[in-house]
Amino acid sequence: MDLRELYQEVILDHYKHPRNRGTLESADRHSEGHNPLCGDEIRIDLILDGDIVRDVRFDGQGCAISTASASLMTEAVLGKSVQEAEQLIGEFQSMVTQTGEYEPRPEFGELEALAGVREHPVRIKCATLAWHALRAALKDGGEVSTE
Ligand code: ZN
Repeated sequence: MDLRELYQEVILDHYKHPRNRGTLESADRHSEGHNPLCGDEIRIDLILDGDIVRDVRFDGQGCAISTASASLMTEAVLGKSVQEAEQLIGEFQSMVTQTGEYEPRPEFGELEALAGVREHPVRIKCATLAWHALRAALKDGGEVSTE
């Protein structure tokens, strides 16, 4: 199995079986994001324990890329500090938008499955939607749009 097939499997798996999907009644942070280009909608609920992301859920409707990205995002930030999560948001965004030769980043783990959207500019906003919404939730919530 080549890397591209493996990445497609990861994306399909997270699309069909999203992790941390749902809402949190006791969430202390909440945000909503929209990607009008594709019609993706996402809601993020977050529970912070001091500086640590104690729980995170996402809900909404979207394409395979936006759903898989949201699912992977929740797994990646759970248990991280706010600062680590914000750093990861920046790194993820540069991974999916950087041009030129891609430098593999093994430390990204499964997140790297989304690096392929670099070759499909119209899908980049699908991939980054959950991360924009996460950034808003980490600040103080609200609504974000990829436009
Ligand atoms: Zn989409």
